[in-house]
Amino acid sequence: MSDRLNDILAKAEVSLARFRQGTLHHWIDGEPREPSSGETFDNHTPVNNSFLGSVASGDAIDVDRAAQAATRAFADWRKMPGGKRRALLHDIADAIEGKAEQIAVVESMDTGQAIRFMAAAAKRGAENFRFFADRAPGARDGLALPAAQHMNYTVRQPIGPVGAITPWNTPFMLSTWKIAPALAAGCTVVHKPAEWSPLSAALLAETCHEAGLPAGVLNTVQGIGERAGVALTEHESIKAVAFIGESRTGSLIMAQGAGTLKRLHFELGGKNPVVVFDDADLDRALDAAVFMIYSLNGERCTSSSRLLVQDTVYDKFISQVAERIRKINVGHPLDPTTEIGPLIHPRHVEKVRSYLEIARNEGAEVHTGGTVRTSGDDGAMTPGGTVGPDGSGGNYVRPTLFCGARNDMRIAQEEIFGPVLTAIPFSDEVEALRLANDIRYGLAGYVWTGDAGRAHRFAEGLDAGMVWVNSENNRHLPSPFGGMKYSGIGRDGGDYSFDFYMETKNICIAHDTHRVPSLGR
Ligand code: NAD
Repeated sequence: MSDRLNDILAKAEVSLARFRQGTLHHWIDGEPREPSSGETFDNHTPVNNSFLGSVASGDAIDVDRAAQAATRAFADWRKMPGGKRRALLHDIADAIEGKAEQIAVVESMDTGQAIRFMAAAAKRGAENFRFFADRAPGARDGLALPAAQHMNYTVRQPIGPVGAITPWNTPFMLSTWKIAPALAAGCTVVHKPAEWSPLSAALLAETCHEAGLPAGVLNTVQGIGERAGVALTEHESIKAVAFIGESRTGSLIMAQGAGTLKRLHFELGGKNPVVVFDDADLDRALDAAVFMIYSLNGERCTSSSRLLVQDTVYDKFISQVAERIRKINVGHPLDPTTEIGPLIHPRHVEKVRSYLEIARNEGAEVHTGGTVRTSGDDGAMTPGGTVGPDGSGGNYVRPTLFCGARNDMRIAQEEIFGPVLTAIPFSDEVEALRLANDIRYGLAGYVWTGDAGRAHRFAEGLDAGMVWVNSENNRHLPSPFGGMKYSGIGRDGGDYSFDFYMETKNICIAHDTHRVPSLGR
């Protein structure tokens, strides 16, 4: 390990020491709270699977405490004038920016995501707060809908205490994407972060508190999905649940929420096509295709995990992708030169690795990559190696490219959620659209073409909630974010977020001119 990385690690330890030494508690009603059961679970860093501290394991009692705190706090929070709420949310954004470096380092060590991306993700968390802060004063605005003898107008009101359940990929940024609009709308929140990445949620709750957020407005219950998560989705006082995670977990939550008629918002899985036509700017398409699958370890819902390339340029394009892959720097997430870090958990490595076997069994070719590194330090790669339970290994997977694939293969249909790309050739626009849509997911699609008419036709035809033409995923906070089919229900971003966290009420006032129907006169 280089002296430079050693220095970086020594600095990181300052931020991590508190997690390693104590138990990470829930954050309920403005203070840390021990788990009612006294139970904890161990957290490990993907870097070498060494211990990163123990974490409170929440249960229905903890969730109930948090929901009660959120319900009490809702009475005042909903009445706070929008301007005051705006100022407070900007204070939180300032506080996040002040701690952005610490948040990024903790997030990198907790998730294995490369610091080059996590530094930006922490700042994006602050941006999310600023964006929704500025919209807080107008959140309740409605429409004037005059009729002949009545005046109708609508207002929006916060729905009540809500639950936010978040995954382990870029957990800090994704949590703010849910929590900031909920708070701006006037809702209070109970947050259940993912058990594989609990740390940055604790930093977020603390940071909000230090910035002046009143007690009970944001509560964090750590714990396992099947216990703490279930309790949150079933709690009577929680009026809505915003969930980001796997499609099959979304189905479970839909069933769990049925008894209390939960309003649900789902951001789920994806197997997103990037479609490259031979008339595209192929250099830009190459950069974007490689970036969108191999950045963030491929653990990204909008990753371009299916590469559809026109057969006229397929061979050349694939060989260029392979060349890039060979040069991608896989390494320690805190090393600024690292492009791919270790995957979140040994179980996830097993899942990703299993697709190498599946690919071979299905008759596809593992064109590039496909090895797992068992040592966190020496850079040795062994085909199909496993991760040592003694903490000696890290969850490193080489970026991988599958070729010779068909769209009906599992490697083309299932979300692998790692740095793994499946390439398929197509002959014309009709076939490309058929392949792109022949999938149960519908989150994002990327199209590369120099033909403006085709760009419009293709974007119109794609079954996806978001389409980027001649671009990688490029976020614009007022734009709707979300998926179709098994990829989600509902949209986030701009006013779309308020539609979820608020009730629209219609108020109808008579001019006192109409005839009121009468009975029994
Ligand atoms: P996951 O579904 O396993 O877990 C997500 C969260 O749900 C965790 O906090 C977990 O504890 C909780 N949970 C699990 N079972 C639960 C239950 N029965 N009731 C309530 N909560 C429960 O997902 P993951 O593996 O953490 O995250 C990866 C997935 O998230 C991928 O499928 C990815 O595509 C998806 N994702 C989607 C988007 C999007 O915007 N569409 C964004 C990021 C991630």
